[in-house]
Amino acid sequence: MWVDRLVEDLLRQHPGPHVVNDAKTPSGHVPVGHLRGVLMHDCIVRALRDAGAAAEFLYGFDDYDPMDDQPPALPHYEPYMGMPFSNIPSPDGRAASYGHYYAEEFAAVFTQLGAHPRIYRTSEMYRAGQFDEAIRRALDQVAVIREIYREVTHSKRIDDGWWPVQVLCERCGRIGTTNVVRWDGCEVEYVCAPDKVAWARGCGYHGRRSPFGGGAKLLYRVEWPAKWAVLHVTVEGAGKDHMTRGGTHDVAEALSTRVFGRPAPYAFAYEFLLYGGKKMSTSRAVGATAAEIVTVLRPELARFLIVRPLPRRQVEFDPGGDTIPNLYDEYDRAAAAYFGEIENGDLARTFYFSKVDDEPSRCYRPRFVKVAQLAQMPQVDLERAVARDKGAPLTEADRRELALRVADARRWLATYAPEHYKFEIQARLPEAAASLSPAQRRYLARVADAMRARSWTGEELHAHLHALKEEVGLSPREAFGAIYKAFLGTDSGPQAGWMLAALDPAFVLERLAQAARDAVGQRPGAP
Ligand SMILES: [Zn+2]
Repeated sequence: MWVDRLVEDLLRQHPGPHVVNDAKTPSGHVPVGHLRGVLMHDCIVRALRDAGAAAEFLYGFDDYDPMDDQPPALPHYEPYMGMPFSNIPSPDGRAASYGHYYAEEFAAVFTQLGAHPRIYRTSEMYRAGQFDEAIRRALDQVAVIREIYREVTHSKRIDDGWWPVQVLCERCGRIGTTNVVRWDGCEVEYVCAPDKVAWARGCGYHGRRSPFGGGAKLLYRVEWPAKWAVLHVTVEGAGKDHMTRGGTHDVAEALSTRVFGRPAPYAFAYEFLLYGGKKMSTSRAVGATAAEIVTVLRPELARFLIVRPLPRRQVEFDPGGDTIPNLYDEYDRAAAAYFGEIENGDLARTFYFSKVDDEPSRCYRPRFVKVAQLAQMPQVDLERAVARDKGAPLTEADRRELALRVADARRWLATYAPEHYKFEIQARLPEAAASLSPAQRRYLARVADAMRARSWTGEELHAHLHALKEEVGLSPREAFGAIYKAFLGTDSGPQAGWMLAALDPAFVLERLAQAARDAVGQRPGAP
């Protein structure tokens, strides 16, 4: 499991104590892809603590960043463009700010997924003066920082008018529109420029103020290493878009050693999480948000999906098709490995890192597709049917697990399940049964005889249905088609033996007899 290998390597380099950090700008609904970062860091913290190393887990909301992209759903927010997210009103009128609102929404999701970092907000850190020392350094050493930017990014735009801070305009409250003119060691002289950026218009104010205590913020690439220094971060990974050569992380790393005087934290890069084939864009309302994934998957499964692949491997999640049943099957294999029922060390560890809060109980895990089938048969006593497949009465843990699966199955059937997973047991003999051939009706009569003779598990009955079709000389399509026509009125359906075994025997016998004898239009005496 990649977490174990990463943490082993990490502990070889730094025995600890560790501070593991991840962060996000709360610019809107957080796309589902950002959960990958949170959960990877959470797994690392879990493994560090298991190894006996002290580890603190931090998650930052960079809410002193300016709004630089108009939220599509909030056209009336245009006047706030360029202001820090912490200073923009919440869209619901209740949260402390726009930044708080979206931060809370995202935090609620990762909390549900079992990640419990200590949350901090950069707005509060700036106002409390926690970045003052870093701001002073950055302004004093502006020449070194310009040099590093030119060296690492090869940018031609870094001239002597470039400064590593953005000042909060005292007149209009924007922070994304200001240019520093001069730093005298106490105050910055600045202009709130109407044309600095395309996405916001500065008010034209020209003033002087202290950059401390929230008066200014560091540019993103400078703020990152400043945070490492202020929070004593020792581990922080990032999405591969930050980890390109000459990219954000390279700049931050160089600044960390040469300006803030400490080595950059242990780093690792991870690939995107694609949802339905698309990379999740951060600021536009495209595709799935983090909050949506917990409406599609139960928390353990969402964690399993995200935590399982190697960091450098893209995660692709398309909730349609067979994705969810397959994910459930794989999750069940991981559970079996974890509880020692099968041999697979990697899957066992993956299950461990997919745990949410409570220790999972050992229990019977009926296949998801079967539960989805049972959930569509209101005539069936679900617990009894599952107990029959298990071959023993259900325990309390079995029942809890079954209830979760039933809820998931119902949700899946109502949303993403392909049509071929859906069926309905017809209360009366369907019209389609009229087309049954004499051989098919003989077959149904033989099935009825077999079911009258003894009770069957689904698997046993299914095997027997195959044997009977050989005897009658029917193809699988003809044989099983006869059963589907008699019960569902369709040509296909769930595994037939299992479906018949789950239904009430009296109902099954009556329907089989009726279909065998009584196909519409072939009644005795009919023309
Ligand atoms: Zn202004």
